[in-house]
Amino acid sequence: MKVRTRFAPSPTGFLHIGGARTALFSWAYARRHGGTFILRIEDTDVARSTPEAVQAIIDGMQWLGLSHDEGPFYQMQRMERYRQVIAEMLAAGTAYHCYTAKEELDALRAEQEARKEKPRYDGRWRPEAGKTLPPPPAGVAPVVRFRNPVQGMVAWQDQVKGRIEFANSELDDFIIARGDGTPTYNFCVVVDDRDMNITHVIRGDDHVNNTPRQINLLQALGAPVPQYAHLSMILGDDGQKLSKRHGAVSVMQYDEDGYLPEAVLNYLARLGWSHGDEEVFSMEQFVQWFDLDHITASAAQFNTEKLNWLNAHYLKLAAPQRLAAEATHRLARQGVTVAGGPDVAQVALLYRDRVGNLNELADALHPYFVAPHPTVEMAAQHFTEAALKGLRALRERLAACNWQAAELGQAVKQTAAECGLKMPQLAIPLRVALLGLPQSPSIDAVLEVLGRERVLQRLAAVPSA
Ligand code: GLU
Repeated sequence: MKVRTRFAPSPTGFLHIGGARTALFSWAYARRHGGTFILRIEDTDVARSTPEAVQAIIDGMQWLGLSHDEGPFYQMQRMERYRQVIAEMLAAGTAYHCYTAKEELDALRAEQEARKEKPRYDGRWRPEAGKTLPPPPAGVAPVVRFRNPVQGMVAWQDQVKGRIEFANSELDDFIIARGDGTPTYNFCVVVDDRDMNITHVIRGDDHVNNTPRQINLLQALGAPVPQYAHLSMILGDDGQKLSKRHGAVSVMQYDEDGYLPEAVLNYLARLGWSHGDEEVFSMEQFVQWFDLDHITASAAQFNTEKLNWLNAHYLKLAAPQRLAAEATHRLARQGVTVAGGPDVAQVALLYRDRVGNLNELADALHPYFVAPHPTVEMAAQHFTEAALKGLRALRERLAACNWQAAELGQAVKQTAAECGLKMPQLAIPLRVALLGLPQSPSIDAVLEVLGRERVLQRLAAVPSA
């Protein structure tokens, strides 16, 4: 059996963290088994679906690198197919027309509630052997109901939650097509899962209650029932249901916030799934390890600290050119151009193990491209008489120096010694002069990447240096 999985988002908002994890698990399962991963856009809720949301989902998946093999299929483009299946079901007697008016249903519900019963359709238009149905009322567009089995159980071995069963008596003959002929949600999912030959449905556990209806429908269609794996929800850091309150819930917000996709992926992979104690692994590794058996049935709790730790980890490994590209566009957003400045990749290399995210990286790189203006307080604190004397002497020495880190470091040391300064007494004012900050990576590396011209200019700009 060739594995076929799908991610089937409703495009009513951005791709959120829970959706991304569902997509990741479905993708990984297909990849693990050399199968096919399908993207299906469930856009039949026309009032809430938007093209922007479709784009946001596609962008989010692309950013994460979760590539699909088939699709995107749009349910709104499959209406003809749904109508055809409804007609087939009506002809086969697995579905029937129901003419119950809204007022009648309201009255039925009121009676059931008064008797403290669960409101459900009572099957008044359900054809049965020996039952005579009333003539269809004129002018009423009927809905189509699924003829749900009345007896027995519908059960499945959930790959995450174990055996789940529902009594058929709990499920009523739900509507599969409205009066205007439009198909309903559970029906479309079933037709698609069947037509797309889905073997494993991996989705959020908010769909557990839909599953018995979907299984019954599949069986009525004579279609194989896929395996189901219902993922528990994700809680925020505080143990509450994940929501906007918890900050970045849209996947693209993580990009905005300076996270690397591999950090987010590694983080999501561990959100409710484990492989021993492994915390840090590549997607190749994840795909080799991923299975449904090690998904936890309990809710997973978001841990921002861990995500940040992973992000810092992946930043340290990121190629300088990639960091340069990221920093460049983030600086451009702040109106800073890197053209004519030092080599961005070289500067990024100095900072990749000192920052927690790409925005911090861009901020760290900022003074390399825009000459700093130390504050009055900072100048007063660092540009003392002795320091200024040292900076002047250093400037002269640097002008003649071979521009290479070791030699530059030597020049700073010698100047400090000659001026009777301890290293920090010269190196800190030097950092303030060059970058506007008292701390930086090793001063020789900073001097080297800034380049002679820029260093001399910045030293010359120190008031009375
Ligand atoms: N469209 C549904 C949702 O976004 C998912 C349906 C499914 O995976 O079966 O929640």
